[in-house]
Amino acid sequence: MEIKGLKDELAGLKNEGRYQSLKIWETGSGTWMELNGRKVLQMCSNNYLGLTNHPELKQAATEAITKYGVGSGSVRTIVGTLDIHDRLENELARFKNTEAALVFPSGFTANQGILSSILGEEDAVISDELNHASIIDGIRLTKAIRKVFKHKDMDQLEAALKESADCRRRVVVTDGVFSMDGDIAPLPDIVALCERYDAIVYVDDAHASGVLGKNGKGSADHYGLHGRIHVQVGTLSKAIGAVGGYMAGSQSLKDYLIHKARPFLFSTSQPPSVAATCLAAIQVLSFSQHLLDRMWNNTAYFRDRLKEIGFDTGISETPIIPVIIGDPARTSRFSEELLEEGVSATGIVYPTVAMDKGRIRMIVTASHTTGDLDFALDRLTEVGRRFGLV
Ligand SMILES: *Cc1c(COP(=O)(O)O)cnc(C)c1O
Repeated sequence: MEIKGLKDELAGLKNEGRYQSLKIWETGSGTWMELNGRKVLQMCSNNYLGLTNHPELKQAATEAITKYGVGSGSVRTIVGTLDIHDRLENELARFKNTEAALVFPSGFTANQGILSSILGEEDAVISDELNHASIIDGIRLTKAIRKVFKHKDMDQLEAALKESADCRRRVVVTDGVFSMDGDIAPLPDIVALCERYDAIVYVDDAHASGVLGKNGKGSADHYGLHGRIHVQVGTLSKAIGAVGGYMAGSQSLKDYLIHKARPFLFSTSQPPSVAATCLAAIQVLSFSQHLLDRMWNNTAYFRDRLKEIGFDTGISETPIIPVIIGDPARTSRFSEELLEEGVSATGIVYPTVAMDKGRIRMIVTASHTTGDLDFALDRLTEVGRRFGLV
């Protein structure tokens, strides 16, 4: 049965050049993936360290399926907390240097669950304008006063802290690494302001988990801010290579969330194989810096070459590297022509970014070889010339 109005709206999206159909990939996540029977170089997955295909993770998953079966059968608070879930949380807390950690079904639901639990109508939440959709939705679930500061603008953050002085609790929330520009949050300044105004610091490290800091411990470690951040959110879905999200923080926050956070309470726990995979990933990261070094070397190489060629890579400081193209139609065409040339990179356009700042967003991983990166640079240069960009 048709739902009235949907087709008209979809036609509108098509007219604006914003309609998307899903691409169906015929191989697993990796550097070279098959699309319509053709090999394409993947430059936009979040598989930063190539862990989706790591032999130790695959073995851990297989062994867990043999031991526990494929599903957990329940939410955590009923019979869905298996020893493997408990071990993962203890390991995450150790890895993040916090008292405790709590795993959620995803990073998205971690933000929704935590923000809606710790904020009430007596409180204020102060948020960077470029924060992730899951933070925005988490904030929408609360009755707290909402304040938004311009991207990384510490004067506006300070003004918001002063204006909210009468609130019971002020929570300042920021992405650790911003997903559209690949820039890093000014966490030392945010922490200093929050300490001065007695506010809570909340960092969403989805793109920083497994990327920033020693062994990929995240932005708190990157800046040496251990013990000064109240809430760290991480994802197990990007660099860690599986799926899930988590909170790292105090034991009392964990205990509180076990009673209040609705995605934790009302959604089934991770399949044991997923928990085992994440546990193996943390072990791989803890024992070796090798994959991170490769990822960062590849990032420096790729970004430097792009700049030499004459591309505008914006303010990127991480393996997320945007190449600025222009208006939405031009950006979409660039992304399509690049795919024709054998390189996959997502076009990101208005309203996600400004009208004239449409970009293709590239993500460099540890698995790319120098040959892969050279191939991408060569194809980008070819398409860039056609577009008069270089
Ligand atoms: C990807 C992302 C999330 C969502 O994480 P999932 O585990 O994929 O649900 C949350 N926050 C930020 C900043 C992200 O980039």
